[in-house]
Amino acid sequence: MHRPALPPLPPTPAGSPHSTPRDSKVFAPGSVCLVGAGPGDPDLLTLRAVQRLGEADVLLYDHLLDPQILRLAPPQASRICVGKRASRHTLPQADINQLLIDFARNGQRVVRLKGGDPLLFGRGGEEMLALAAAGIPCEVVPGISAALGAAAALGLPLTHRDHAQGCSLVTGHRRQGESALDWTQHSTPEQTLVVYMGLGEAAHIASQLLAHGRDPATPVAIVERACSTAQRCVCGQLATLAQLIADQQIASPALLIIGSVVTLHQQLQALRQQAVIS
Ligand code: SAH
Repeated sequence: MHRPALPPLPPTPAGSPHSTPRDSKVFAPGSVCLVGAGPGDPDLLTLRAVQRLGEADVLLYDHLLDPQILRLAPPQASRICVGKRASRHTLPQADINQLLIDFARNGQRVVRLKGGDPLLFGRGGEEMLALAAAGIPCEVVPGISAALGAAAALGLPLTHRDHAQGCSLVTGHRRQGESALDWTQHSTPEQTLVVYMGLGEAAHIASQLLAHGRDPATPVAIVERACSTAQRCVCGQLATLAQLIADQQIASPALLIIGSVVTLHQQLQALRQQAVIS
């Protein structure tokens, strides 16, 4: 389809809340940087994430982040954990937004460090909007999301021309009182489905997918703590997904990977084992 040429965009003033890649080399005092910490292994941080951590005056971080990553901030930087799952103490999102605003207004360089990528199931969108509404410049440094980290660590391609044309990243988490998620669109076998935060809802998710036509024998992989030294992967079938999670005592953080691409991981493992034996 022919589209008319768009008029050129006006230049973005340096340091504006909508900074462009060209001016992103500067981390100005009084601004916030949402930094993706990747899936766990500190080696999977981007160079820019390391740079921004090294420039931080204040670091607000989530639970479960590797202490090695936190040490990349200067020793004198304040470090504030805003979500401690173990003690069930998590600061409400509105309070986190306010802290970001207050520190930035105080002239500090604020890093908000999040697991994986800040804009994928990470509430980075909410923080970006709150900062923009307060007139505070905000940069986003992308991170390797858990699905991509897990795929690489396991040798489990999320797409493959013989198996899956596409891949959906969805959350299994529902807010209380929210209507059920629509699983009808995830019933096609040509789609890999990666579910974040899906452990608690696994039985419901599996039954919905089966009710909408997914084969009970569809391969599944449950990946716990991908890209860490404690990584664990358990494979099975969709029909017994919830049972597998219970039997293997899988704990958060974990991903559910659903689709025939899981067999590629199993093939790869078998080939690697054969190569070791022969
Ligand atoms: N922004 C993050 C996702 C945050 S939501 C990202 O892009 O990866 C938190 C959920 O992500 C967890 O409940 C789990 O489902 C998944 N997750 C995060 N890190 C993980 C890891 N190392 N291994 C497996 N799942 C992980």
